[in-house]
Amino acid sequence: MYQPPVEAIASALARFTGAGEDVAGAVVAEAGRFAGGAIAPLATVGDRDGAKLAGGVVTMPEGWAALYRRWREGGWNGLSAPEEWGGQGLPLALGMAVAEIWNGASMAFGLAPLLTSGAIEALAAHASPPLQALYLPKLVSGEWTGTMNLTEPQAGSDVGALAARAEPAGEGRFRIFGQKIYITYGEHDLAENIVHLVLARLPGAPAGSRGISLFLVPKFLPNAEGRPGTRNDVLCAGIERKLGLHASPTCTMLYGSGAFGGEAGALGWLVGEENRGLNCMFTMMNNARLAVGIQGVAVAEAATQKALAYAAERRQGRAAGFKGEGSAPIIHHRDVQRALLTMKALTAAARAICYACADAIDRSRGADDAAFWTGRADLLTPVAKAFATDVGVDVASTGIQVHGGMGFIEDTGAAVLLRDARIAPIYEGTNGIQAIDLVSRKLPAEGGRTLQALLGEMDAVAQAVRASNDPGFGTTAERLDRALGHCREAAEFLLSAAPDAALSGATPFLRLAALAVGGSLLASQALQSRDAAETALCRFFAENLLDEAGALASRATQGGESLAIAAEAILPLS
Ligand SMILES: Cc1cc2nc3c(=O)[nH]c(=O)nc-3n(C[C@H](O)[C@H](O)[C@H](O)COP(=O)(O)OP(=O)(O)OC[C@H]3O[C@@H](n4cnc5c(N)ncnc54)[C@H](O)[C@@H]3O)c2cc1C
Repeated sequence: MYQPPVEAIASALARFTGAGEDVAGAVVAEAGRFAGGAIAPLATVGDRDGAKLAGGVVTMPEGWAALYRRWREGGWNGLSAPEEWGGQGLPLALGMAVAEIWNGASMAFGLAPLLTSGAIEALAAHASPPLQALYLPKLVSGEWTGTMNLTEPQAGSDVGALAARAEPAGEGRFRIFGQKIYITYGEHDLAENIVHLVLARLPGAPAGSRGISLFLVPKFLPNAEGRPGTRNDVLCAGIERKLGLHASPTCTMLYGSGAFGGEAGALGWLVGEENRGLNCMFTMMNNARLAVGIQGVAVAEAATQKALAYAAERRQGRAAGFKGEGSAPIIHHRDVQRALLTMKALTAAARAICYACADAIDRSRGADDAAFWTGRADLLTPVAKAFATDVGVDVASTGIQVHGGMGFIEDTGAAVLLRDARIAPIYEGTNGIQAIDLVSRKLPAEGGRTLQALLGEMDAVAQAVRASNDPGFGTTAERLDRALGHCREAAEFLLSAAPDAALSGATPFLRLAALAVGGSLLASQALQSRDAAETALCRFFAENLLDEAGALASRATQGGESLAIAAEAILPLS
């Protein structure tokens, strides 16, 4: 069963945030106990039975409603939510560490609070004081959950194409009409009310993304006591059958279908200014994207643990290093060791990037250098989201490989990790869109100085590795120098390239930046901890994975022309 990597998380966290290892360790250890004892045992039933829809009502798998109640009564939902609304106001970095633990035990479970956190953030930043007072305490306590309603059949990555509409209904209210698809936890029986944040267009709004407004639409309209009252005109018309995340209901939501009688149109309240809905959504986008990155780390960690345990048990063939009787446990085969260490190294690098991003978001909220840290968080967010979720998929797939045929059999629990992980590179902005965001918005911001500053810090890490004279690092310093150099050159090329060339190189550039920064962060951690195992993992990363940087730089800077020619020659573009 999944054992949260409490020590690894607590020590990495303490190094990033400067928080005492004991404080971080205590919270993380308690979360670990809950996840291992309560969430992990219900993950299998969640995957096997899934959420069920009948007559507009979604029933969660057996035991999940009680699990959620226990989790919320433990105060976990408000860990890093604002104290003003009943949260504990702890750093986001700690919230993310704990989120890794929930998602490692069950990604389908971890998704519910992920969406609620997004709703809390959007409302705390943009809603009117009366709306905040009515909804935020319930969302922060977890009594009510939140959703994000962007996607429509014709509006996926292109959110600006959405067509849901909102008509003024007097007294500051609006009636919402339209269909939203793929809405995570759009309907369920975990909580007594669901607060939908819905993007829709007001009459006469400009076309495209400049004409979108954000509305709060509750499933039940709160009564005078603030308790769930009249049913609102919001119907779950279907839930998707899907590859993974079976316990997380992915709902088709109908607003204004008239399904519950009374006047048609779901009652909603404007959040933020008219036609500025996308900006409101962007407030929570950094955190939600980072939280999805953390899902990738969580699944990668769970897959690594599972593969390690299996490799220590399963015996096949002879291995030079095995001194025991009979066949060797497969963990003694060099090729299996390579797989296991690649899993560990990628997971650690992805975690380090995510924590560096969380730390930057926390610092951006402080008084000192807020603009600098906002820039750093903006730059790291697409890298954290895309790299960590790709790592989740790669590592879960390698985990199946380590299990051999047993990995393909559901009973081992290796397959579900890959099935669950596969959505994370798609939702919350596909990884392709993240890469485009990186090269077309984040990289050019401040004339490229945000990345330069980060790479400068990473240069200093490489220097410190060299200065340490620790033979345990092997050739880490030189390899970091080289990877950071490749990243710098590719960035310079992309900054001055024509838009089409920059878009062609976006995905390889994002991975290049992730490897260079991730490798440096691993080195920084190893330098601080002076732990032989961390140093060995850092060296393994540098000498076995980091050399991909050169190939990625070539792909990012020189691959565009052949891409364009091949696309014209081969793809059915007409
Ligand atoms: C399980 C699940 C849960 C979800 N939860 C939610 C939720 O809670 N709320 C919500 O609103 N949505 C949710 N979604 C929707 C999700 O965010 C979208 O699926 C995602 O944004 C991609 O949109 P799409 O599926 O329409 O793909 P498309 O936008 O059609 O993309 C298809 C492919 O084309 C690429 N592409 C598209 N546009 C461009 C471009 N301009 N440049 C380069 N490449 C491009 C994409 O990268 C992708 O590879 C969920 C989806 C799933 C499957």
